[in-house]
Amino acid sequence: MSGSDDGTTVLVLNCGSSSVKFALVEPVTGRRPVTGLAEQVGSPKAVLHVRRGDDTVTTTPADPSHTGVVAEVLDQIGGEPPRAVGHRVVHGGSRFSASVIVDDDVLAGIREISDLAPLHVPANLAGIEAAARALPGVPQVVVFDTAFHQTMPPRAYHYAVPRDWFTKHAVRRYGFHGTSHRYVSEQAAAALARPLGELRLVTAHLGNGCSAAAIRDGRSVDTTMGLTPLEGLVMGTRSGDVDPGLPRYVAERTGMSLVEVLDALNTRSGLLGLSGVSNDQREVADAADAGSSCAALAMEVFAYRLAKYVAALVVPLGRLDALVFTGGIGENSAPVRSDVLGLLGFLGLVEDRALNTGLARGSGGLVSSGPVPALVVPTDEELVIARDTAELVA
Ligand code: ADP
Repeated sequence: MSGSDDGTTVLVLNCGSSSVKFALVEPVTGRRPVTGLAEQVGSPKAVLHVRRGDDTVTTTPADPSHTGVVAEVLDQIGGEPPRAVGHRVVHGGSRFSASVIVDDDVLAGIREISDLAPLHVPANLAGIEAAARALPGVPQVVVFDTAFHQTMPPRAYHYAVPRDWFTKHAVRRYGFHGTSHRYVSEQAAAALARPLGELRLVTAHLGNGCSAAAIRDGRSVDTTMGLTPLEGLVMGTRSGDVDPGLPRYVAERTGMSLVEVLDALNTRSGLLGLSGVSNDQREVADAADAGSSCAALAMEVFAYRLAKYVAALVVPLGRLDALVFTGGIGENSAPVRSDVLGLLGFLGLVEDRALNTGLARGSGGLVSSGPVPALVVPTDEELVIARDTAELVA
């Protein structure tokens, strides 16, 4: 692919259990003529917001299922059908190490994996089936959150647990946010004007979910998330690492079931659990500024855990050439970047206060002045999905 778009677009679909996000994307320019979001999919309260330029139209789909919502999305978009549909799929297990065109074999493969992400993969499959029904003959591509991390070596993806958990039940570390880690590592190489194939990077994707990855010569060699997106960094509502003995201890002390404790680790922990204020980093930071010691502690634990992991991820790299921040927090929170860099001076990372606090919203750039650069790179998973899709169907 080169030059400008030929006017054809790719529909990017991200079907969650109760939401559908979509965008019509021109793969080369990245222009998005129509974007939108359906909420409460599957319930009678389902609503669809479709945005075209500055106008947003909100409708209530007659059929609130994934099928009905996807059909309504296509109806609202109107015009020429997209050249292809690209789907975000949360888990590709050990089978999928790259994006692929959907066929019966691929669908069967995704179905086999759905136990690994039982809340998400069935919704992703519903989206694929709905798009196939609404757009017969239009090719579909799946882009996996886990695929980029399939280059991790065994020493990084094995848990030290009984061998047959791995051989019989696929228990291993997979990692997530792969599309984002891949994109920002490529963009960082371009920004640093160095070949990606020579760079050793740590990329930190800090959104509602947070993960960091070690990228050596353009390949992921380790990452902080594991079998599920609960492992690793402190997140908005997820705890990240805890002692594996914690769930049983808390269950016995509180009378909660193990499932309830795990649910609390996923939905009531992280920034929200520590601060008692919010899962939104901005609100936690504001509360800390206003004097909340719990909110201040939440910010401190968040940055400390991240810094500890950045340093740990230098082990598989052997040296660090740059640290990349992305995601809502990574792109927008100068205080988080400042706290993390402040803990990592021994790696050659030094905050440049003027650069770090002066970045315009939505723009990337250098935030450091030491020997090892730290930079912000805005992520764009939709664009990667659109480009993978266009390339595969070309
Ligand atoms: P998701 O992972 O759902 O895509 P985002 O990447 O949008 O989420 O990240 C959400 C997080 O980014 C929230 O914690 C939010 O507080 C934070 N965030 C977004 N904008 C800003 C901002 N201007 N300043 C600080 N934090 C921000």
